[in-house]
Amino acid sequence: MTADEFRSAGHALIDWIADHLEGSGDRDVASALAPGDVRAALAEHPPTEPEPFDAVMADVERVVVPGITGWQHPGWFAYFPANNSYPSILGELLSAGLGVQGMSWVTSPACTELETLVLDWMLELLDLPTRFRSTSEHGGGVIQGSASEATLVAILSARHRATEGAVNADGDTTRLVAYATDQAHSSVEKGLRIAGIGAERLRRVDHDERFAMRPDALATAVRADRGAGLVPFFVTSSHGTTSSMAFDPTPEIGQICRREHLWLHVDGAMAGIAALAPEHRAVNAGLELADSYCTNPHKWMGVNFDCTTYWTADRAHLLGALSILPEYLRSAAAESGAVIDYRDWQIPLGRRFRALKLWFAIRCTGIEQFRSMIRGHVALAQELASWVDGDDRFEIVAPHPLSLVCLARTGETTEVANRRTDELIDGVNASGRAFVTRTVLDGRSVLRVSIGARATTRDHVVALWDLLRELA
Ligand code: PLP
Repeated sequence: MTADEFRSAGHALIDWIADHLEGSGDRDVASALAPGDVRAALAEHPPTEPEPFDAVMADVERVVVPGITGWQHPGWFAYFPANNSYPSILGELLSAGLGVQGMSWVTSPACTELETLVLDWMLELLDLPTRFRSTSEHGGGVIQGSASEATLVAILSARHRATEGAVNADGDTTRLVAYATDQAHSSVEKGLRIAGIGAERLRRVDHDERFAMRPDALATAVRADRGAGLVPFFVTSSHGTTSSMAFDPTPEIGQICRREHLWLHVDGAMAGIAALAPEHRAVNAGLELADSYCTNPHKWMGVNFDCTTYWTADRAHLLGALSILPEYLRSAAAESGAVIDYRDWQIPLGRRFRALKLWFAIRCTGIEQFRSMIRGHVALAQELASWVDGDDRFEIVAPHPLSLVCLARTGETTEVANRRTDELIDGVNASGRAFVTRTVLDGRSVLRVSIGARATTRDHVVALWDLLRELA
């Protein structure tokens, strides 16, 4: 492809993307394809000669688009959102165009310094504690690929602090114990497995009727483990659990962590972004006690996946766990101590210029538009919850402080209610008009309605409610 061909294909592709996004609501939300359909519709072997770009795009239209699940569809009520936005897409394009691999400051100073700046911007926009700021004595922020990676680097930092850097050398790692409720994200268990600590060393601390951690149960579990000669080292407090948007009481949990010298990681993957709106700053409660925190602009802020903002108040242990310096990565800048090498803040060595999409989104979208989207989604969720409350065929099964509504069908027994709820979920997802996710809360089958897609309006929520009543 020549530069001129790139210009013309690129202009056409931008038009295509805009048309595709604006037309999202005209397609079914869920793909109707069966396993293997996509592969079977494409050439089994690679071409031997270059093909025209138009031929590739024809296959995109014919095969790829029908195989797309509509994350940007206004009827997207599944999982949590993964919104994109036009400024963020352009930031991704620019990142690809610049072709930078920003593992060290020296491999592109702008890639590093823009990232440090936008993390400090995000800290201000979310009103986070200044001990996370890059200019603070011990803290700093970095973009991770996902909240799961954030959990893993938090575990590794905590392990480094607890074992003073020794890994399995004297048995310390094998005595470590971590704590979270059974509502915490699965990345906690996965992170412990990857870190060599093991899932069996994750204590599932009891939760209350709001699915939030019970601090007294945490304190008891820690005491019991110490009594058994084990080494409690890490707690995950969830600010907005995946299943039901429950908030663990971080102010109380944080006091226990301080007293017991436990690393406190707060996972605000979805809900943390709500703090962009000042009236939702309760989602930050207790963060001044956290050792690390993450939230996902790639969920609720219109920044394309992947973009998790991760802060630590104690970068020494992050760097202690992840720094590596072979001869070929030495640089005078790094040795001067005046620069950040973000390769030491993450699992991989190489890294993309992800700060661009966040910087573009913040500058070109504007804080007020983020706030009004969040407020709109929260208001719609509250309205939906009030409709559900007023219909005795349905029941609300968890608190709904933000944009997630967990509902179930009623029934004479739990078994009957669960069967009806499962049928309802299948019916919604087969309709093509909306897409929802099932979860289980204390043995009850639950239909989650997560309102967070950028294109979702009140009409779409009304349509979902009509559909739920029609299918009930
Ligand atoms: N933590 C919570 C509370 C989540 O809801 C999710 C995903 O929805 C994650 C972590 C994992 O996020 P990611 O996909 O960025 O790894």
